[in-house]
Amino acid sequence: MLTPGAPPMSAEIRGTSGQRITPSDVAACLAHVDRYTYLYALSKFCLDDHSRAELNDLAIDDAVGRGYTFQSQEPDDSVERLGLLALSFSISPSRCAMCKGTGQVIFGSKVDSCPKCQGTGNMQLSARRLADAMGAGRWRAQKVWMPRFQTLLSDYQVKDDAIQTVLYVGLRDE
Ligand SMILES: [Zn+2]
Repeated sequence: MLTPGAPPMSAEIRGTSGQRITPSDVAACLAHVDRYTYLYALSKFCLDDHSRAELNDLAIDDAVGRGYTFQSQEPDDSVERLGLLALSFSISPSRCAMCKGTGQVIFGSKVDSCPKCQGTGNMQLSARRLADAMGAGRWRAQKVWMPRFQTLLSDYQVKDDAIQTVLYVGLRDE
């Protein structure tokens, strides 16, 4: 991930300081992405926590706008909870315990993609943890809420990719 403080990716991709990508480098690159993506990047890169309330509202609107239904015994704010959970999980994913976040494991003399996290390096959210966070039953969490959660997560991954692209282009030497 290209983040402030990261070393240059190559001779061409580097921040203004020449050695490290600075927060202002990142902010400058993000000038043209949509506001939701912009605020997400600010929080993800720890550049600005003041906009988190606005970002949370956007994440909730996003989830609610998908028309997900819930059962009467589930909390009234189930969909809002799901939206916030996906947002915070995307901003600060937990490292996979099996590969220590590298996405790769060594089997004998061979390096392979980590089977536990499918090479992402991020810990998967268990159905039990999702059920706890949602106030839902385990079966409902696994069958209904988990696929929705994964959909929201993959949309944040699309944002991650878009952010990487604008940073890559923005930090490239003219
Ligand atoms: Zn792993």
